[in-house]
Amino acid sequence: MVNYTIENMMASSSLNTRLNLKEVAEKLDDTEYNPDNFPGVIWRPRTSYGVVIIMEDGRMMCTNVRSEKEVVDIFEKLTRIMEEKELITPRSVCPQCGAVVDADDVVCVECGFLLQS
Ligand SMILES: [Zn+2]
Repeated sequence: MVNYTIENMMASSSLNTRLNLKEVAEKLDDTEYNPDNFPGVIWRPRTSYGVVIIMEDGRMMCTNVRSEKEVVDIFEKLTRIMEEKELITPRSVCPQCGAVVDADDVVCVECGFLLQS
């Protein structure tokens, strides 16, 4: 058995929607966007070590994170900010527990709350 430490992870996700990167770079804080050099917006939140690269087709690549929890946290945080800034369509949220649900779900998968009557 060897000893090891995880120093860095990379994860990818997709918002499944096309983005206007110029608008993303303008509305989000802590971004770098130089389309002549690199075709994505780089988001470096001051409150996290992680860095997310946002592409025009909605793909997001997260680097400089060390655990799955950091990956989930940073993608959740970025998605929430983008919803607030109206860069993407807000997901539906369960009024009882706050879990993200699909618009056509009848009951919340987390708490069983009846979403549609
Ligand atoms: Zn719920």
